[in-house]
Amino acid sequence: MKEIILCKYGEIALKGTNRGHFENLLKRELQRRVSPFGRYKIYYIQSTVYIEPLEEDCDIAGAYEAAKNTFGVSAVSRAIEAPKDMDKILDIIKTSFMPYLDGARTFKVESKRSDKSFPYQSPEISAEAGGAILDASGGRLKVDVHHPDVCVRVEIRDLAAYICAGQERAVGGMPIGSNGKGLLLLSGGIDSPVAGYMMAKRGVSVEAMHFESFPYTSERAKQKVLSLAQKLAAYAGEIKVHVISVTKIQEELRDHCDEDYFTLLLRRFMMRLSERTAEKFYCDALITGESIGQVASQTMKAILTTDAVVSRPVFRPVIGMDKEDIVQIARKIDTFETSILPYEDCCTVFTPAHPRTQPELSKVEAEEARIDVKALEDEAFATLETIVVRP
Ligand code: ATP
Ligand code: MG
Repeated sequence: MKEIILCKYGEIALKGTNRGHFENLLKRELQRRVSPFGRYKIYYIQSTVYIEPLEEDCDIAGAYEAAKNTFGVSAVSRAIEAPKDMDKILDIIKTSFMPYLDGARTFKVESKRSDKSFPYQSPEISAEAGGAILDASGGRLKVDVHHPDVCVRVEIRDLAAYICAGQERAVGGMPIGSNGKGLLLLSGGIDSPVAGYMMAKRGVSVEAMHFESFPYTSERAKQKVLSLAQKLAAYAGEIKVHVISVTKIQEELRDHCDEDYFTLLLRRFMMRLSERTAEKFYCDALITGESIGQVASQTMKAILTTDAVVSRPVFRPVIGMDKEDIVQIARKIDTFETSILPYEDCCTVFTPAHPRTQPELSKVEAEEARIDVKALEDEAFATLETIVVRP
């Protein structure tokens, strides 16, 4: 018996002449993700990706889970390959396929014959296969054409016939690398890893930017950010994490500027430094985990003053989401437990008691005139170090 994995892809199917490019990206990504589970051949036929094991001891269940979580795949199923011969198909259903229906009480069969030279039409194939399943189940299973527990599919394709028990929804999105590269401002919090995940899901390659404030923030805090990046890398692939120290900037702000503007001024430095990093590493957009109104620095006016210092687009995929909804995704992608570890972040060092929620740009600029912005920025940028995090 030969088992294979079939993947359907979503939006790629709508791409016109570029489709080959998207398919290649998806194939490369699938290859990377299933490789820990054995050697597989991956190919496309008729808008379906076939993942075929090349060795006896491949871990098909592992590869199936990996494929299900690969951006660009919209549905997955495990299938048994059969010769294009009705008797043999029925035989395989009775002998090898029945364990796929364990736990089900009702089923229906849907068939598709893309190889029109096969001498049975789809309704006949379904009827025969359904009869074989009923016989083999010894009365345990019943047919329910409206709400079956499992929908069995028999597909007669060019290469062979395939028998699968249902298909599962996969993660969806677009293949990594198909939509440019963005620089994710990654704090140790809940929101930014989720923001990175959402952009990666749309096919954006992600690099990360983290600001530390050593010795006010600890080595543990930095390690936490690196573990978050690693969790993200499970979906997005290898991530370069760029780290810049903003300690000196924070001390200057503390010593010379109005405390109420402190966070905002720091955020403007973060944006400028991110843009420089983005330029150096060819990232065309910045990505943050801001959600409108969540804290003082995320009001519309505050965002207006921080965006004023950069020219790249700033993507904020969680801008319209409630915390609860963000947490739900954080749990799903397994970053939540790490995010809530109680280590300090540079934003929590010297936090003002009364941060401005409705800052005026002119006042912010006047505060900045008290310090040497360019020199501080250059000095901070010189501390940039890059750590590569692999899944
Ligand atoms: P998060 O939950 O992601 O940590 P937050 O609730 O801490 O966000 P803010 O501190 O206002 O909110 O930060 C808003 C966004 O700014 C973050 O989602 C992140 O994109 C970016 N950011 C904040 N602090 C840092 C940092 N130390 N390094 C890099 N980016 C940061
Ligand atoms: Mg937040």
